Amino acid sequence: MRRGYLSEIFLSFQGEGAHLGRRHLFVRLAGCNLRCRYCDTPDSLELTPEFVLSRDGNTSERHANPVSAPEAAVLAQSILAAHRCIDGIAVTGGEPLLQSEFVGELLQRGNFGLPVLLETAGVLARRLPDVLPWVDIVSMDIKLPSNTGERPFWDEHALFLERARGKDLYVKVLVDEGSADEDVDRAASLVAASVPTAPVFVQPIVDSVGRPCISPRRLADLFVLARRHVADVRVVPQTHKVLGIQ
Ligand code: SF4
Repeated sequence: MRRGYLSEIFLSFQGEGAHLGRRHLFVRLAGCNLRCRYCDTPDSLELTPEFVLSRDGNTSERHANPVSAPEAAVLAQSILAAHRCIDGIAVTGGEPLLQSEFVGELLQRGNFGLPVLLETAGVLARRLPDVLPWVDIVSMDIKLPSNTGERPFWDEHALFLERARGKDLYVKVLVDEGSADEDVDRAASLVAASVPTAPVFVQPIVDSVGRPCISPRRLADLFVLARRHVADVRVVPQTHKVLGIQ
């Protein structure tokens, strides 16, 4: 029985990517190996002694970390049982693959009967087999060194794309005014080389009040760069900030 660190469990609408607008139960894992400059979940970056469970969006309960996988599965099931019209489970972070064995056991024990969407930065390919049997959809980022403040992860992303091939997969590339042409070009080339049919979501980075950090003209330029390699490229902003929801 594995124990792990959660950040929060809550119900909301998916705000990004191919399943935008669907109602998901979010299971957010604590801890991340990266520190992207634009990170919008700073509270999930470190392991904390407690996590927050929100059953209805109005009230929240605090539970102790680390939590066992069966206990976490029961808590998630209790929210699913109390609500109708939930489209899926979004396993997110932080970086959920840092606790891949815990996540795998949680999903296996949970047996949720809903599509499971894994949201990951896509740099920990070797941990994918721990979770992939219980995951239906993979949402991976390709991190651009020109806007993350991190080192390049091209090799890690290439390996991840290769290992995730065969799953329902889409890729997010976050961009701002300073995102380099060569980074977007390389990201799209990686996708084209490995999973050419995967949609690529070019997602504008936003500031603390939700304004895009990129001009329409630059966004169009980066779209065209990506579109040269990948047939299905879409420019889609985050919507949960617009809606003022979690
Ligand atoms: S990988 Fe995600 S959670 Fe981690 S620092 Fe970057 S944006 Fe934040």
